[in-house]
Amino acid sequence: MRTCSPLVDQFQRRITYLRLSVTDRCDLRCAYCMPERMTFLPKKDVLSLDELHRMALGFIGRGITRLRLTGGEPLVRRDMIDLVQALGRKLGDGLEELTLTTNGTRLAEFADDLAAAGIQRINVSLDTLDRAGFARLTHRDSLPQVLEGLAAAKAAGLRVKINTVALKGLNEAEIPEIVAWAHGQGFESTLIEVMPLGEVEEDRFDHYLPLSSVREDLERRWTLVPSQHRTGGPARYFDVAETGGRIGLITPLTQNFCEGCNRIRVTATGQLYACLGGNERVDLRAALRSEHPEAALDEALDMAMKIKPARHNFAIDARGAAPALARHMSVTGG
Ligand code: SAM
Ligand code: SF4
Repeated sequence: MRTCSPLVDQFQRRITYLRLSVTDRCDLRCAYCMPERMTFLPKKDVLSLDELHRMALGFIGRGITRLRLTGGEPLVRRDMIDLVQALGRKLGDGLEELTLTTNGTRLAEFADDLAAAGIQRINVSLDTLDRAGFARLTHRDSLPQVLEGLAAAKAAGLRVKINTVALKGLNEAEIPEIVAWAHGQGFESTLIEVMPLGEVEEDRFDHYLPLSSVREDLERRWTLVPSQHRTGGPARYFDVAETGGRIGLITPLTQNFCEGCNRIRVTATGQLYACLGGNERVDLRAALRSEHPEAALDEALDMAMKIKPARHNFAIDARGAAPALARHMSVTGG
């Protein structure tokens, strides 16, 4: 029989936020995220548009009110706008917010459609404003496209948050400039510590930069006022008096935030991961392709609530021997 009960895990955390990866493919190769010769999932293993839609409706029926579409790069999936439009129709009818995380390369093409479908806020990942540095870091010379995409997003009325991974020796010196630029554009800025997810070509520890040191650096220039602003996510916010903008800091390694976790993630193949930093998983694709998909999906979601761990378990230790989780962020959905 179908249940419509809310999703509450064994630690009494109410799960209301879903990050749904619509593809593991990407048109960039950020060095900390995936290797140049990344092996992508066979297309037949990836959920169809109809499956993604039915699954999302199942989640909304169980109290998921915020849904973020991500990847890989969500805008490289051909039928992506159809999915956004279909989900946009649930806004105000169970769904409170539909958002997207993108690298921005295809935003110029899609910003208007995203806004028209009901998306109001997007996160755009941008780790440097230097064209050569961007090409080195992402292995593609796409900064001009990203900047064009950001301008289109702004013109379409989308609220933008710029996500920047703090990288020692790569964008470390540029972080204040990126924050100031973002605030000047009317964008929010979020800084993120690099996490040991999936094998990449370089040793991530070489570029690991604790945000505690970034914050000290920013505080030497600016007045950072702790903000009461909360989004239900892991970021802690500060208002920057001098720029008039807001900064979020996401510190998975230097400060654990799992206690208030309200989220789950689903890969493009329908694997629900109860935690970004763990291997606990249930197979929603099998549920969706079973004889009684709705009941099987509900059952799988109940199981997910039983296995969601108390906290993630990744760390970069003093010697750099970070036990990398085999799964890339682009697979789980960042
Ligand atoms: N392609 C889209 C993008 O870049 O925004 C969406 C997916 S990407 C995996 C989502 C976010 O994860 C990006 O902000 C990216 O910088 C971040 N990310 C990827 N690998 C990471 C890692 N190992 N540690 C920390 N952040 C990571
Ligand atoms: Fe692609 Fe995003 Fe990973 Fe960069 S961070 S390689 S844009 S999925």
